[in-house]
Amino acid sequence: MAHKKVLVLGGNFGGLTAALAVRHELHGEVDVRVVSQSDEFIFNPSLIWLPFGKRRPSDLSFPLAPTFDTHGIDFVHAAATGLDLAGKKVMTSSATYDYDYLVIATGYRNNFAAVPGLGPGGNAYTITTLEDAIHAGEGWRRFLSNPGDIVIGASQGAGCFGAAYEYLFNVSHQLRKAGLKKQVKLTYVSSEPFLGHFGIGGLPHGEALLGMFLKKERIEAVVNTAMDHVDEGRLVLSDDRTFDFSYSMIIPPFVGQDFIRDTPGIADDKGYVKVRDTYQTNDYDDVYAVGIAAQVTVPWQSAVPVGIPKTGFPTERMAHVAARNIAAQIKGEPLGSHEAFGDMPAVCVMDAGNNGVIILADKMLPPRGHGILIPGPQAHA
Ligand SMILES: Cc1cc2nc3c(=O)[nH]c(=O)nc-3n(C[C@H](O)[C@H](O)[C@H](O)COP(=O)(O)OP(=O)(O)OC[C@H]3O[C@@H](n4cnc5c(N)ncnc54)[C@H](O)[C@@H]3O)c2cc1C
Repeated sequence: MAHKKVLVLGGNFGGLTAALAVRHELHGEVDVRVVSQSDEFIFNPSLIWLPFGKRRPSDLSFPLAPTFDTHGIDFVHAAATGLDLAGKKVMTSSATYDYDYLVIATGYRNNFAAVPGLGPGGNAYTITTLEDAIHAGEGWRRFLSNPGDIVIGASQGAGCFGAAYEYLFNVSHQLRKAGLKKQVKLTYVSSEPFLGHFGIGGLPHGEALLGMFLKKERIEAVVNTAMDHVDEGRLVLSDDRTFDFSYSMIIPPFVGQDFIRDTPGIADDKGYVKVRDTYQTNDYDDVYAVGIAAQVTVPWQSAVPVGIPKTGFPTERMAHVAARNIAAQIKGEPLGSHEAFGDMPAVCVMDAGNNGVIILADKMLPPRGHGILIPGPQAHA
């Protein structure tokens, strides 16, 4: 009998894991094809170090084709441009591919429109893609020869707060190394309702711990705030407060890919795919979405909108849940794998230059049984 066809869109944490896991679950008795816009795996967590020369682009990426080849997976370097879910087809920049099961793992795009003045050619850097981090590094080297004040922030709607904190503390560490710590005022501006919220509602003693870290590093914090726009050398908040800077890095909100948002019925207005706890889409049993591409509902309301960090660990768990369920469907068995995002354990390491914090909790989102932050140099990579 011909093998079933599993088509995976995206080749990073979610797509790579889903593709390998489906092959593994079915002992190779399945045809898996991955279509990815990038032909490299990018280890995004290391982007925070790139601007300071602590990592080179080649340290945090590897080519996808040889890995997939080794595992008998067909790799296509192309961008998906449209979905025909009734016809079970995906249009791409190279060809149209049909499937029996589809996994969408196309991740995020920066939504620079959320704050005028952000984005390429704008007035603040970001570090959320390889290109952005390279530019942030060029700006950092210019800053070192003409230093002034610094603003690091996460805008309204952002969810990647861990990266903002990591960059903040790494900047502080680099300033000290450059002998500039005393002369540069460093400010952290965030939409989080309180320090250490991280987009996951905070953890016990987190606010106090982050407050202590900031005090020790003499960093001023402005939280629970929205950004109006960024002028050249000046951040303007919605309440008209202004912060002048010589260097700024701001994490924008993320959104899903346009071709998903443009597919009727499967996505929310941000382009994230609506899924069940099996990671099947609400309306199509044969279409899955994992990682950042999958919608997660924010379980609270805050005065300033705050996103949710869909980090690497839950992304890979979603991919394994999806792979197990696809394997069950192919074998004609009932779907046995269910795990809502909020119920997954939180496991994260936050680097802080020469220090760090290990973040552990039984659940990503409250209500939780337990959660703990373990500070110390052992968390520094
Ligand atoms: C600066 C930064 C620091 C981070 N630090 C941490 C950390 O310390 N710990 C942690 O757990 N997580 C961290 N994260 C989060 C982590 O990177 C994400 O959880 C992870 O990238 C999600 O993987 P994904 O596969 O869902 O999406 P992505 O990594 O965004 O991958 C999407 C894939 O889809 C492809 N693609 C996009 N559009 C298309 C298209 N149209 N057609 C085909 N393919 C397409 C892309 O090329 C890519 O291969 C960090 C993220 C950033 C940005």
